[in-house]
Amino acid sequence: MTSPQALPEDQISALRTDLLDWFDAHKRDLPWRKNADPYAIWVSEIMLQQTQVITVKDYYTRWMAAFPDVEALASADLDVVLAMWAGLGYYRRARSLHAAAAMVVEDFDGDLPSTVKDLKSLPGIGDYTAGAIASIAHGQVAALVDGNVERVFARLFAIPGDPKVRANQKRFWAIAHALVDTTRPGDFNQSLMELGATVCTPKSPTCLLCPVRKQCVGLATGNPTTFPAKVKRKKAKLVQIDALVLLERPKDGPERVVLLKRPDTGLLPGMLEAPSSAPIPREKPHDTHAGTTRLRQVLITHGVIVPPDAFERVRELGAVEHVFSHLKMRMHAHLIEFEQFPEPLIQSVEALPGACIVARGALDECALSAAQHKVFALVDAQG
Ligand code: SF4
Repeated sequence: MTSPQALPEDQISALRTDLLDWFDAHKRDLPWRKNADPYAIWVSEIMLQQTQVITVKDYYTRWMAAFPDVEALASADLDVVLAMWAGLGYYRRARSLHAAAAMVVEDFDGDLPSTVKDLKSLPGIGDYTAGAIASIAHGQVAALVDGNVERVFARLFAIPGDPKVRANQKRFWAIAHALVDTTRPGDFNQSLMELGATVCTPKSPTCLLCPVRKQCVGLATGNPTTFPAKVKRKKAKLVQIDALVLLERPKDGPERVVLLKRPDTGLLPGMLEAPSSAPIPREKPHDTHAGTTRLRQVLITHGVIVPPDAFERVRELGAVEHVFSHLKMRMHAHLIEFEQFPEPLIQSVEALPGACIVARGALDECALSAAQHKVFALVDAQG
Protein backbone atom coordinates (compact mmCIF):
# COMPACT_ATOMS: atom_id res chain seq x y z
CA MET A 1 0.00 0.00 0.00
CA THR A 2 1.29 3.44 -0.89
CA SER A 3 0.37 6.71 0.76
CA PRO A 4 0.70 10.05 -1.02
CA GLN A 5 3.15 11.25 1.60
CA ALA A 6 5.45 8.52 0.29
CA LEU A 7 4.80 9.42 -3.35
CA PRO A 8 7.39 11.41 -5.22
CA GLU A 9 6.43 14.99 -6.01
CA ASP A 10 6.21 14.25 -9.74
CA GLN A 11 3.61 11.56 -9.10
CA ILE A 12 1.50 13.89 -6.97
CA SER A 13 1.82 16.44 -9.72
CA ALA A 14 0.69 13.86 -12.31
CA LEU A 15 -2.39 13.02 -10.22
CA ARG A 16 -3.29 16.71 -10.00
CA THR A 17 -2.84 17.28 -13.73
CA ASP A 18 -4.75 14.14 -14.73
CA LEU A 19 -7.67 14.98 -12.48
CA LEU A 20 -7.86 18.65 -13.46
CA ASP A 21 -7.63 17.88 -17.20
CA TRP A 22 -10.33 15.28 -16.86
CA PHE A 23 -12.53 17.65 -14.85
CA ASP A 24 -12.14 20.42 -17.44
CA ALA A 25 -13.30 18.03 -20.15
CA HIS A 26 -16.00 16.08 -18.32
CA LYS A 27 -17.52 18.14 -15.51
CA ARG A 28 -21.28 18.10 -15.39
CA ASP A 29 -23.25 21.21 -16.19
CA LEU A 30 -24.80 21.96 -12.79
CA PRO A 31 -26.71 25.14 -11.89
CA TRP A 32 -24.43 26.06 -8.97
CA ARG A 33 -21.37 25.81 -11.21
CA LYS A 34 -22.62 28.80 -13.18
CA ASN A 35 -22.27 30.99 -10.14
CA ALA A 36 -19.07 31.88 -8.24
CA ASP A 37 -21.06 33.60 -5.49
CA PRO A 38 -19.96 32.12 -2.12
CA TYR A 39 -23.56 32.20 -0.89
CA ALA A 40 -24.76 30.14 -3.88
CA ILE A 41 -21.95 27.63 -3.37
CA TRP A 42 -22.74 27.40 0.33
CA VAL A 43 -26.44 26.71 -0.35
CA SER A 44 -25.61 24.03 -2.93
CA GLU A 45 -23.07 22.35 -0.65
CA ILE A 46 -25.55 22.17 2.24
CA MET A 47 -28.28 20.80 -0.04
CA LEU A 48 -25.93 18.21 -1.52
CA GLN A 49 -25.17 16.72 1.87
CA GLN A 50 -27.19 13.48 2.02
CA THR A 51 -29.21 14.40 -1.10
CA GLN A 52 -28.73 13.36 -4.74
CA VAL A 53 -27.68 15.93 -7.35
CA ILE A 54 -30.78 15.24 -9.42
CA THR A 55 -33.07 16.15 -6.51
CA VAL A 56 -31.02 19.16 -5.45
CA LYS A 57 -31.14 20.84 -8.88
CA ASP A 58 -34.80 21.95 -8.65
CA TYR A 59 -34.64 22.81 -4.99
CA TYR A 60 -31.51 24.91 -5.55
CA THR A 61 -33.13 26.87 -8.40
CA ARG A 62 -36.29 27.56 -6.40
CA TRP A 63 -34.30 28.49 -3.30
CA MET A 64 -32.09 30.98 -5.15
CA ALA A 65 -35.16 32.59 -6.68
CA ALA A 66 -36.78 32.96 -3.23
CA PHE A 67 -33.63 33.90 -1.27
CA PRO A 68 -31.15 35.29 -3.81
CA ASP A 69 -28.61 36.47 -1.24
CA VAL A 70 -27.64 36.03 2.38
CA GLU A 71 -29.62 39.10 3.47
CA ALA A 72 -32.80 37.74 1.89
CA LEU A 73 -32.35 34.44 3.71
CA ALA A 74 -31.50 36.07 7.05
CA SER A 75 -34.62 38.23 6.96
CA ALA A 76 -36.98 35.43 5.86
CA ASP A 77 -39.37 33.82 8.28
CA LEU A 78 -38.17 30.39 9.47
CA ASP A 79 -41.53 28.84 8.50
CA VAL A 80 -41.09 30.10 4.94
CA VAL A 81 -37.54 28.71 4.87
CA LEU A 82 -38.73 25.31 6.13
CA ALA A 83 -41.55 25.29 3.57
CA MET A 84 -38.99 25.91 0.82
CA TRP A 85 -36.90 23.00 2.13
CA ALA A 86 -39.89 20.66 2.57
CA GLY A 87 -39.24 17.29 0.95
CA LEU A 88 -35.43 17.55 0.97
CA GLY A 89 -35.21 15.91 4.39
CA TYR A 90 -32.67 16.48 7.18
CA TYR A 91 -34.43 19.70 8.11
CA ARG A 92 -31.73 20.77 10.54
CA ARG A 93 -29.78 21.80 7.46
CA ALA A 94 -32.40 24.45 6.63
CA ARG A 95 -32.57 25.72 10.19
CA SER A 96 -28.77 25.95 10.35
CA LEU A 97 -28.60 27.79 7.02
CA HIS A 98 -31.15 30.28 8.29
CA ALA A 99 -29.36 30.78 11.63
CA ALA A 100 -25.95 31.03 9.93
CA ALA A 101 -27.26 33.62 7.45
CA ALA A 102 -28.28 35.84 10.37
CA MET A 103 -24.77 35.46 11.84
CA VAL A 104 -23.13 36.30 8.51
CA VAL A 105 -25.19 39.49 8.28
CA GLU A 106 -24.58 40.37 11.93
CA ASP A 107 -20.95 39.35 12.47
CA PHE A 108 -19.40 39.34 8.98
CA ASP A 109 -21.10 42.34 7.39
CA GLY A 110 -23.05 40.12 5.00
CA ASP A 111 -19.95 38.47 3.47
CA LEU A 112 -19.52 34.74 3.93
CA PRO A 113 -16.11 34.26 5.62
CA SER A 114 -13.28 32.88 3.50
CA THR A 115 -11.20 30.87 5.98
CA VAL A 116 -11.96 27.35 7.14
CA LYS A 117 -11.73 28.50 10.77
CA ASP A 118 -14.27 31.32 10.40
CA LEU A 119 -16.57 29.22 8.24
CA LYS A 120 -16.62 26.51 10.91
CA SER A 121 -17.83 29.05 13.46
CA LEU A 122 -21.18 29.10 11.62
CA PRO A 123 -23.98 26.62 12.42
CA GLY A 124 -24.18 23.64 10.08
CA ILE A 125 -20.68 24.11 8.61
CA GLY A 126 -18.23 21.35 9.44
CA ASP A 127 -14.84 20.36 8.01
CA TYR A 128 -16.20 19.25 4.65
CA THR A 129 -18.45 22.26 3.94
CA ALA A 130 -15.82 24.72 5.18
CA GLY A 131 -13.24 23.14 2.83
CA ALA A 132 -15.68 23.25 -0.06
CA ILE A 133 -16.66 26.92 0.39
CA ALA A 134 -13.09 28.07 1.13
CA SER A 135 -11.63 26.31 -1.92
CA ILE A 136 -14.45 26.58 -4.48
CA ALA A 137 -15.77 30.06 -3.64
CA HIS A 138 -12.65 31.75 -2.29
CA GLY A 139 -9.79 29.89 -4.00
CA GLN A 140 -8.19 29.01 -0.66
CA VAL A 141 -5.89 25.99 -0.56
CA ALA A 142 -8.26 23.99 1.64
CA ALA A 143 -8.81 20.24 1.58
CA LEU A 144 -12.08 18.35 1.75
CA VAL A 145 -13.27 14.78 2.16
CA ASP A 146 -16.81 13.55 1.52
CA GLY A 147 -18.19 10.07 0.84
CA ASN A 148 -17.15 10.16 -2.83
CA VAL A 149 -13.63 11.31 -1.98
CA GLU A 150 -13.30 8.60 0.68
CA ARG A 151 -14.13 5.95 -1.90
CA VAL A 152 -11.70 7.34 -4.49
CA PHE A 153 -8.86 7.52 -1.96
CA ALA A 154 -9.62 4.08 -0.52
CA ARG A 155 -9.31 2.60 -4.04
CA LEU A 156 -6.51 4.77 -5.35
CA PHE A 157 -4.30 3.89 -2.38
CA ALA A 158 -5.86 0.50 -1.52
CA ILE A 159 -6.82 1.53 2.00
CA PRO A 160 -8.63 -1.33 3.75
CA GLY A 161 -11.19 -1.25 6.56
CA ASP A 162 -14.19 0.81 7.55
CA PRO A 163 -13.85 4.27 5.97
CA LYS A 164 -15.63 5.85 8.93
CA VAL A 165 -13.22 4.74 11.66
CA ARG A 166 -11.07 7.47 13.13
CA ALA A 167 -7.75 6.15 11.82
CA ASN A 168 -9.05 6.02 8.24
CA GLN A 169 -10.69 9.43 8.51
CA LYS A 170 -7.35 10.88 9.65
CA ARG A 171 -5.69 9.20 6.76
CA PHE A 172 -8.17 10.47 4.15
CA TRP A 173 -7.78 14.03 5.42
CA ALA A 174 -3.99 13.75 5.37
CA ILE A 175 -4.18 12.56 1.76
CA ALA A 176 -6.56 15.38 0.84
CA HIS A 177 -4.20 17.97 2.34
CA ALA A 178 -1.20 16.45 0.58
CA LEU A 179 -2.89 16.26 -2.81
CA VAL A 180 -4.91 19.48 -3.08
CA ASP A 181 -3.69 21.55 -5.99
CA THR A 182 -2.35 24.92 -4.88
CA THR A 183 -3.25 26.84 -8.03
CA ARG A 184 -6.77 25.49 -8.62
CA PRO A 185 -7.84 24.06 -5.23
CA GLY A 186 -11.58 24.43 -5.84
CA ASP A 187 -11.52 22.71 -9.22
CA PHE A 188 -9.22 20.00 -7.87
CA ASN A 189 -11.55 19.24 -4.97
CA GLN A 190 -14.51 19.16 -7.32
CA SER A 191 -12.63 16.84 -9.68
CA LEU A 192 -12.21 14.30 -6.89
CA MET A 193 -15.88 14.47 -5.93
CA GLU A 194 -16.94 14.35 -9.58
CA LEU A 195 -14.78 11.29 -10.19
CA GLY A 196 -16.39 9.52 -7.24
CA ALA A 197 -19.90 10.51 -8.36
CA THR A 198 -19.60 9.63 -12.05
CA VAL A 199 -16.70 7.17 -12.62
CA CYS A 200 -15.48 5.62 -9.38
CA THR A 201 -19.02 4.73 -8.35
CA PRO A 202 -19.74 2.43 -5.39
CA LYS A 203 -20.73 -0.77 -7.20
CA SER A 204 -19.37 -0.57 -10.73
CA PRO A 205 -16.51 1.85 -11.29
CA THR A 206 -15.73 2.47 -14.97
CA CYS A 207 -11.99 2.13 -14.51
CA LEU A 208 -11.39 2.12 -18.28
CA LEU A 209 -12.52 5.75 -18.40
CA CYS A 210 -10.71 6.80 -15.24
CA PRO A 211 -8.02 9.48 -15.58
CA VAL A 212 -5.95 8.06 -12.69
CA ARG A 213 -6.23 4.34 -13.51
CA LYS A 214 -2.49 3.98 -14.12
CA GLN A 215 -1.78 5.04 -10.57
CA CYS A 216 -4.68 3.18 -8.94
CA VAL A 217 -3.41 0.56 -6.50
CA GLY A 218 -6.93 -0.75 -5.93
CA LEU A 219 -7.33 -1.45 -9.65
CA ALA A 220 -3.95 -3.16 -9.69
CA THR A 221 -5.21 -5.65 -7.08
CA GLY A 222 -7.78 -6.77 -9.67
CA ASN A 223 -10.72 -6.10 -7.42
CA PRO A 224 -11.05 -2.37 -6.71
CA THR A 225 -14.57 -2.61 -5.28
CA THR A 226 -13.25 -4.38 -2.20
CA PHE A 227 -12.10 -0.87 -1.20
CA PRO A 228 -13.39 0.64 0.98
CA ALA A 229 -14.58 -2.28 3.11
CA LYS A 230 -18.33 -2.75 3.20
CA VAL A 231 -19.51 -2.34 6.74
CA LYS A 232 -22.92 -3.46 7.90
CA ARG A 233 -24.62 -0.49 9.48
CA LYS A 234 -27.24 -0.95 12.20
CA LYS A 235 -30.73 -1.59 10.86
CA ALA A 236 -33.09 1.33 11.31
CA LYS A 237 -35.33 0.84 14.35
CA LEU A 238 -38.99 0.37 13.49
CA VAL A 239 -41.45 2.61 15.32
CA GLN A 240 -45.05 3.55 14.67
CA ILE A 241 -47.26 6.55 15.10
CA ASP A 242 -50.91 7.33 14.56
CA ALA A 243 -51.76 10.41 12.49
CA LEU A 244 -55.16 12.08 12.29
CA VAL A 245 -56.32 13.95 9.21
CA LEU A 246 -59.06 16.39 10.20
CA LEU A 247 -60.63 17.16 6.84
CA GLU A 248 -63.25 19.77 5.97
CA ARG A 249 -65.15 18.78 2.84
CA PRO A 250 -67.74 21.45 2.04
CA LYS A 251 -70.35 20.98 -0.68
CA ASP A 252 -68.66 23.77 -2.55
CA GLY A 253 -65.35 25.47 -1.91
CA PRO A 254 -61.89 24.07 -1.26
CA GLU A 255 -61.24 21.22 1.13
CA ARG A 256 -59.15 22.13 4.17
CA VAL A 257 -57.07 20.25 6.72
CA VAL A 258 -55.68 20.95 10.18
CA LEU A 259 -51.91 21.10 10.63
CA LEU A 260 -50.05 21.38 13.92
CA LYS A 261 -46.47 22.49 14.39
CA ARG A 262 -43.90 20.05 15.73
CA PRO A 263 -41.64 21.06 18.64
CA ASP A 264 -38.45 22.98 17.81
CA THR A 265 -36.28 20.06 18.94
CA GLY A 266 -36.20 16.36 18.09
CA LEU A 267 -37.32 14.76 14.85
CA LEU A 268 -38.48 17.17 12.08
CA PRO A 269 -38.20 20.25 14.32
CA GLY A 270 -40.68 23.03 13.59
CA MET A 271 -42.29 21.19 10.67
CA LEU A 272 -46.06 20.95 10.19
CA GLU A 273 -48.00 17.71 10.44
CA ALA A 274 -51.43 16.16 10.81
CA PRO A 275 -51.99 15.76 14.57
CA SER A 276 -49.83 12.76 15.42
CA SER A 277 -48.99 10.60 18.40
CA ALA A 278 -45.43 10.19 19.67
CA PRO A 279 -43.50 7.26 18.18
CA ILE A 280 -43.89 4.00 20.06
CA PRO A 281 -42.29 0.60 19.45
CA ARG A 282 -44.07 -1.45 16.85
CA GLU A 283 -47.18 -3.32 17.98
CA LYS A 284 -48.18 -6.48 16.18
CA PRO A 285 -50.78 -6.06 14.77
CA HIS A 286 -51.60 -2.36 15.10
CA ASP A 287 -54.37 -1.83 17.63
CA THR A 288 -56.87 0.60 16.08
CA HIS A 289 -58.67 1.28 19.33
CA ALA A 290 -55.43 2.11 21.14
CA GLY A 291 -54.41 4.29 18.18
CA THR A 292 -57.64 6.27 18.36
CA THR A 293 -57.20 6.74 22.09
CA ARG A 294 -53.70 8.09 21.51
CA LEU A 295 -55.04 10.55 18.95
CA ARG A 296 -57.80 11.77 21.28
CA GLN A 297 -55.07 12.41 23.84
CA VAL A 298 -52.97 14.34 21.28
CA LEU A 299 -55.90 16.69 20.60
CA ILE A 300 -56.56 17.16 24.32
CA THR A 301 -52.87 17.87 24.98
CA HIS A 302 -52.79 20.56 22.28
CA GLY A 303 -56.20 21.95 23.24
CA VAL A 304 -57.72 21.21 19.82
CA ILE A 305 -61.48 21.01 20.33
CA VAL A 306 -63.47 18.49 18.30
CA PRO A 307 -67.14 17.62 18.94
CA PRO A 308 -67.59 14.67 21.35
CA ASP A 309 -69.11 12.47 18.63
CA ALA A 310 -66.38 13.12 16.03
CA PHE A 311 -64.38 10.02 16.94
CA GLU A 312 -67.45 7.84 16.32
CA ARG A 313 -66.91 8.35 12.60
CA VAL A 314 -63.11 8.05 12.54
CA ARG A 315 -61.87 5.88 9.69
CA GLU A 316 -58.52 4.14 9.47
CA LEU A 317 -57.01 4.71 6.02
CA GLY A 318 -54.12 2.28 6.21
CA ALA A 319 -50.43 2.62 6.95
CA VAL A 320 -47.43 4.05 5.12
CA GLU A 321 -43.77 3.84 6.00
CA HIS A 322 -40.97 6.35 5.82
CA VAL A 323 -37.30 5.78 6.54
CA PHE A 324 -35.42 8.47 8.40
CA SER A 325 -31.65 8.16 8.88
CA HIS A 326 -31.89 6.14 12.09
CA LEU A 327 -35.43 4.83 12.17
CA LYS A 328 -38.19 3.45 10.04
CA MET A 329 -41.56 4.95 10.88
CA ARG A 330 -44.86 3.25 10.17
CA MET A 331 -47.64 5.83 10.12
CA HIS A 332 -51.21 4.69 10.64
CA ALA A 333 -53.44 7.31 9.09
CA HIS A 334 -56.92 8.06 10.46
CA LEU A 335 -59.51 10.39 8.99
CA ILE A 336 -62.36 12.39 10.43
CA GLU A 337 -64.41 14.33 7.88
CA PHE A 338 -66.50 17.44 8.50
CA GLU A 339 -68.78 19.18 6.08
CA GLN A 340 -67.75 22.31 7.89
CA PHE A 341 -65.21 22.66 10.69
CA PRO A 342 -67.05 23.64 13.91
CA GLU A 343 -66.18 27.11 15.21
CA PRO A 344 -64.56 25.82 18.48
CA LEU A 345 -62.22 23.64 16.39
CA ILE A 346 -61.22 26.59 14.18
CA GLN A 347 -60.68 28.87 17.14
CA SER A 348 -58.67 26.31 19.10
CA VAL A 349 -56.37 25.68 16.13
CA GLU A 350 -55.92 29.39 15.48
CA ALA A 351 -54.96 29.87 19.13
CA LEU A 352 -52.11 27.36 18.82
CA PRO A 353 -48.70 28.82 17.90
CA GLY A 354 -47.73 27.72 14.39
CA ALA A 355 -50.86 25.62 13.83
CA CYS A 356 -53.05 26.34 10.85
CA ILE A 357 -55.98 25.28 8.69
CA VAL A 358 -54.91 25.13 5.06
CA ALA A 359 -56.47 24.26 1.74
CA ARG A 360 -55.63 20.69 0.75
CA GLY A 361 -54.40 21.99 -2.59
CA ALA A 362 -51.84 24.19 -0.82
CA LEU A 363 -50.05 21.43 1.08
CA ASP A 364 -47.08 21.59 -1.31
CA GLU A 365 -46.39 25.12 -0.14
CA CYS A 366 -46.33 24.15 3.55
CA ALA A 367 -43.41 23.02 5.70
CA LEU A 368 -44.58 19.44 5.45
CA SER A 369 -42.13 16.53 5.47
CA ALA A 370 -42.11 13.83 2.80
CA ALA A 371 -43.40 11.45 5.48
CA GLN A 372 -46.46 13.63 6.08
CA HIS A 373 -47.11 13.92 2.36
CA LYS A 374 -47.41 10.12 2.36
CA VAL A 375 -50.11 10.35 5.03
CA PHE A 376 -52.09 12.88 2.98
CA ALA A 377 -51.60 10.75 -0.12
CA LEU A 378 -53.67 8.06 1.64
CA VAL A 379 -56.55 10.56 1.84
CA ASP A 380 -56.14 11.27 -1.89
CA ALA A 381 -56.15 7.53 -2.60
CA GLN A 382 -59.51 6.99 -0.93
CA GLY A 383 -61.09 9.79 -3.03
FE1 SF4 B 1 -11.75 4.17 -9.07
FE2 SF4 B 1 -11.16 2.48 -11.04
FE3 SF4 B 1 -10.30 4.99 -11.09
FE4 SF4 B 1 -9.26 3.29 -9.36
S1 SF4 B 1 -9.14 3.17 -11.58
S2 SF4 B 1 -9.90 5.38 -8.93
S3 SF4 B 1 -11.06 2.08 -8.85
S4 SF4 B 1 -12.43 4.30 -11.19
